[in-house]
Amino acid sequence: DKHHHATAAAPKTPEKKKEPKDRKKNLPETPPPVISDSRRGMDYARGKLLGEGGFARCFEVQNPDGDIYAAKVVSKKSLSSQRMKSKFLGELQVHKTMEHPNIVKFKECFEDPHNVYMILELCGNKSLMDLLRKRKFFTEPEARFFLIQMLGAVKYMHSRNVIHRDLKLGNIFLDSDLNVKIGDFGLAALLIDGTERKNTICGTPNYIAPEVLFGKEEGHSFEVDLWSLGIILYAMLVGKPPFQSGDVKEIYQKIKIATFSYPPNPPQEISLEAKNLIRSLLSPDPRNRPTIDDIAEHAFFKTGYFPRQLPFGSMKAPPMWE
Ligand code: ADP
Repeated sequence: DKHHHATAAAPKTPEKKKEPKDRKKNLPETPPPVISDSRRGMDYARGKLLGEGGFARCFEVQNPDGDIYAAKVVSKKSLSSQRMKSKFLGELQVHKTMEHPNIVKFKECFEDPHNVYMILELCGNKSLMDLLRKRKFFTEPEARFFLIQMLGAVKYMHSRNVIHRDLKLGNIFLDSDLNVKIGDFGLAALLIDGTERKNTICGTPNYIAPEVLFGKEEGHSFEVDLWSLGIILYAMLVGKPPFQSGDVKEIYQKIKIATFSYPPNPPQEISLEAKNLIRSLLSPDPRNRPTIDDIAEHAFFKTGYFPRQLPFGSMKAPPMWE
């Protein structure tokens, strides 16, 4: 029964590197200097651009009380297709119910004639992808700090029957204290109950689990997020994801056989405990992946230093622990 790999269809939501022309078409124009939530009678002063995604632009905004948020702006034009509309509505529906210290807080949502605005907790330190690019790799104590926070957030989501399905360094934001805030619920699925299974192919090539890619008849479930955490842990320690290639088909082929190795000259020595945890998270059969509680109890968290807080120096260079 392990041989019914269906056709390796291309995921419908590939990585956010679309043609520039295409991207610009979807992205909203710069919103006015004052964005008004007319229904609540709340004005937000628009500040600097925080970033751009596939179809959203994010700006820093401030309300009259001086509270600062991130406003995710999506143009109504880009929501004209049914597919984008349901993706966006799904994101809203799921994200607004999530309340956890390691999940980007959703404040409110409103629209004007041109755009829809999501007011979100501001994550002032960009994403883990941005930080990893600057740092090249994270030390194991840092990886323990980030991973345990991700586990808390994922455990919470799963307990509410939500699968994130697009966990990756670029969707894991950092607040001013370098705490993890998981965001972007654009591909999340809310299951009717814990036994429902999903069949949609979605996710980002490097992070996508084999059972999603090769369309197991029985569908996929919560374990896809654990696979992604395995990719994330590997990438944090090695500096790049385990299944990498310039060619997306080749990435899929590597995921299919789930063989990966460590570079001959890694940027740092990686402990056996870390390798062991990565190996079990990247089990091709989702049933063999550890549960979230198993992961939290893993030797990786019990060997070596486990900081309760990261020093700000982590933004620039590997920290020296006292
Ligand atoms: P899309 O759904 O179009 O991919 P994203 O959710 O990825 O859009 O947001 C686009 C960019 O905006 C992100 O890459 C990030 O730089 C920035 N961003 C998103 N949410 C926040 C936030 N809560 N705080 C700060 N910056 C954010």
